[in-house]
Amino acid sequence: MKKLPILYIVIPCYNEEAVLPVTAPMFSDKLNRLVDLGMISGDSRILFVNDGSSDTTWDIICQLAKEDEHFLGISQSRNRGHQNAVLAGLMEAKDRCDITISIDCDGQDDINAMDEMLRQYREGFEVVYGVRGSRDTDTFFKRFTAESFYKLLNAMGVEVVFNHADYRLISSRVLQEFADFQEVNLFLRGMIPLVGFPSTTVYYSRHERLAGESHYPISKMLALALDGITSLSIRPIRLVLVLGFLFAFVSLAGIVWAIVQSIRGFVVPGWASTTCIICFFGGIQLLSLGIIGEYIGKIYLEVKHRPRYIISERTYDIDQ
Ligand code: UDP
Ligand code: MG
Repeated sequence: MKKLPILYIVIPCYNEEAVLPVTAPMFSDKLNRLVDLGMISGDSRILFVNDGSSDTTWDIICQLAKEDEHFLGISQSRNRGHQNAVLAGLMEAKDRCDITISIDCDGQDDINAMDEMLRQYREGFEVVYGVRGSRDTDTFFKRFTAESFYKLLNAMGVEVVFNHADYRLISSRVLQEFADFQEVNLFLRGMIPLVGFPSTTVYYSRHERLAGESHYPISKMLALALDGITSLSIRPIRLVLVLGFLFAFVSLAGIVWAIVQSIRGFVVPGWASTTCIICFFGGIQLLSLGIIGEYIGKIYLEVKHRPRYIISERTYDIDQ
């Protein structure tokens, strides 16, 4: 008989003391049910990644790990953000299991979609993206900004699965290859498709948070959107180049026009037009510099090659 695959469910947690006691039993019930159904091995685990929480989240994780061997925890040395926390968990899990599923800890993503993900894995898919079928529970604003974000990313040439966040199954084989993607500017949902291997999608509906509050305010969402574009696409810089050519051509025509006018003796004191032109080109130049600066900033961060996560504590012995 074929050996059952070991699954690690990777769950980032940042200041989640309100929701963790509610969702942790849900995750362990799910895991046990999947084991009972013969879909995964009994050695499967739930791996919490504490992302430098300032509340009692880590204590709760340690307690859970003490009471039930299915729970494991690692703690980042400080808050590094959701993407780094997920990466830390995936890299930790990749040598200990056959499959990982990453999911948020607030119960918003439907855990029952895991069955279908595992079925797809059995069919031979190495990456299974969880896609939100409907966004009924999101506010209009969140829905609108999120959907525009996916469209913008695609327009900029970044390959992302529409309406997929970070709820996905990845096989450890894919993670082994992904470990070679050494960039520090992380945008996992745009990076995973670059690894290749057969992939598919599974639809699920997204619920409201079960407790606590979102840690993704609009400022963090915007930062993620900007990171997504500038980490994975150089199309904005091309756009700047095209704009540069376009305006260079227009200004050449303007110069010719001005010379002709002055030769014909039609020169008028054109304060307004001069000011407009200065403002216009000043604006375009600043915008272009800003875009280029954003990329130079990224290069600056990449060349330093700092660690992308630092694990300070574990609820288990790493050599086991
Ligand atoms: N999270 C994290 N580090 C952070 C912010 C969030 O690990 O700096 C985790 C958080 O605990 C949750 C997931 O990322 O499990 C998604 O965050 P949240 O639910 O606050 O975002 P939303 O669903 O509102 O976009
Ligand atoms: Mg959430």
